[in-house]
Amino acid sequence: MSPVTVVTGGSRGIGAATVRRLAENGHDVVLCYRHDESAAAAVRDLVHAAGRRGIAVRADTADPDDVARLFDAAQELGELTGLVNNAGITSVIGPFVDVTVADLRRVIDVNLIGYVLCAQQAARRMTAGGAIVNVSSAAATLGSPGEYVHYAAAKAATDTLTVGLAKELGPRGIRVNAVAPGTIWTDIHALSGEPDRPARMAPRVPLGRAGEADEVAAAIVWLLGPDASYTTGTVLRVAGGL
Ligand code: NAD
Repeated sequence: MSPVTVVTGGSRGIGAATVRRLAENGHDVVLCYRHDESAAAAVRDLVHAAGRRGIAVRADTADPDDVARLFDAAQELGELTGLVNNAGITSVIGPFVDVTVADLRRVIDVNLIGYVLCAQQAARRMTAGGAIVNVSSAAATLGSPGEYVHYAAAKAATDTLTVGLAKELGPRGIRVNAVAPGTIWTDIHALSGEPDRPARMAPRVPLGRAGEADEVAAAIVWLLGPDASYTTGTVLRVAGGL
């Protein structure tokens, strides 16, 4: 039986690169997207081109009803074996004192509560074991001072969630790990008001450049797969040494 994996935020960036790599590695893939239907359809077509089954489902991962609908739809592909909790947002770069309550709540809603809701649905459905990868951030340990410390705090919570779930779900044969990307070239930086932020950050990175989405996807796919069979509860930094 083929592995069946849900990837949230699969329409672009790290999520889209992960969907493509998963399909190339034999996974059937359910990709969730928030708004960009045509982009999601294009990524789903890449899954089909790799000879795998793929569906795209519109869902807000912070909404429990949407999340339940997403995982119900995934059943169409068979028994769930994998989840990539990837859908995330930053906010406009700025000092901590200027963060609005609405912004704070949305960042926590998507980056933490959404991950918990999806992990709950996945854990209930992975009756024969499986693997979960949470996409955290190097910000979780760097703190993102002057940029978005509330986002960094939400990602730190993701790391703790990873450790706790690994321990709670290990006896059921479900491994739970995280990747912590550094600065990666994706559209997320446009949301923060600085699309070229990766270029500004590059001189601080020991490898001398920002990363590519596919370099993070490679780590995610490894953590999901059989070569990581004894790896659980770890946060793998993919940050060029940052
Ligand atoms: P991106 O903005 O290119 O993609 C984010 C994806 O998540 C999109 O498909 C978007 O539609 C989806 N999404 C956002 N909110 C959603 C919601 N509520 N429900 C469903 N889908 C939603 O960003 P990316 O850089 O590919 O980010 C992916 C993950 O990587 C995020 O969790 C982000 O925090 C993390 N990350 C990114 C970087 C970076 O530098 N790009 C660094 C560290 C961590």
